[in-house]
Amino acid sequence: MVEVHVVPALTDNYIHILHDAAHGVTVVVDPGEAAPVRAVLAERGWRLTHILATHHHGDHIGGITNLRADSHAMLIGPRAEIDRIPEMDATYGEGDLFTLGSQTVRVFDTPGHTRGHCAFFFEEARLLFSGDTLFSLGCGRLFEGTPAQMWDSLLKLRALPGDTRLYCGHEYTASNLRFALSIDPENAALKARAEEVAALRAKGLPTIPPRLLDEQAANPFLRADDPGLAAHFGLAGASPAAVFAAIRKAKDDFRG
Ligand code: ZN
Ligand code: FE
Repeated sequence: MVEVHVVPALTDNYIHILHDAAHGVTVVVDPGEAAPVRAVLAERGWRLTHILATHHHGDHIGGITNLRADSHAMLIGPRAEIDRIPEMDATYGEGDLFTLGSQTVRVFDTPGHTRGHCAFFFEEARLLFSGDTLFSLGCGRLFEGTPAQMWDSLLKLRALPGDTRLYCGHEYTASNLRFALSIDPENAALKARAEEVAALRAKGLPTIPPRLLDEQAANPFLRADDPGLAAHFGLAGASPAAVFAAIRKAKDDFRG
């Protein structure tokens, strides 16, 4: 059994803390700062054993040095960012598996946001840590990759089981939702999510972790091979990667 705490950090980041009591394993994913993690660990009486990093951006790794000073937790990250994340103890790439307590963790290379970005899938518990690749109703900006690379990365994540829970790196859902409705206004799954998201945010609660099957139905960045979205952009018959590029560009330019 793994319990997961979603910890708001910085402006709109999420840090995820997993605890597997039976195995004495406590894992933090993408600690952009140490203080909120330390607060949860102290309150629960947990000792950090592992740190996972999806990519090298400061809002995902900024707390690592301080957390390791407390506990010497093992730092695990993407092999493709070995020169960009300092002092990793273990690095993994596409298709690699490793064990953390009760869980088999599968690694996906997900280039696009950064060229070495990866995602971690906890197979037994069906938890996906997607960093800044896949957000609820959105996806990361393409700082270092092409639209085709990002589409490819998203296809890997889309193929995971529908009951997978998506733990992403930011609370961007409300703004992603406004954009998604602007290009896909008749999507019933999206309209249903709109009510849920509004209710959660009104209470100041996180909108994550959504179920992957709801993302498959509502997230336009996972639907670039949908003929309706292609038609919206005047791209009927174009490749999904080309439609994806149009969606990403429209989001970059969206002021909603
Ligand atoms: Zn980032
Ligand atoms: Fe980020």
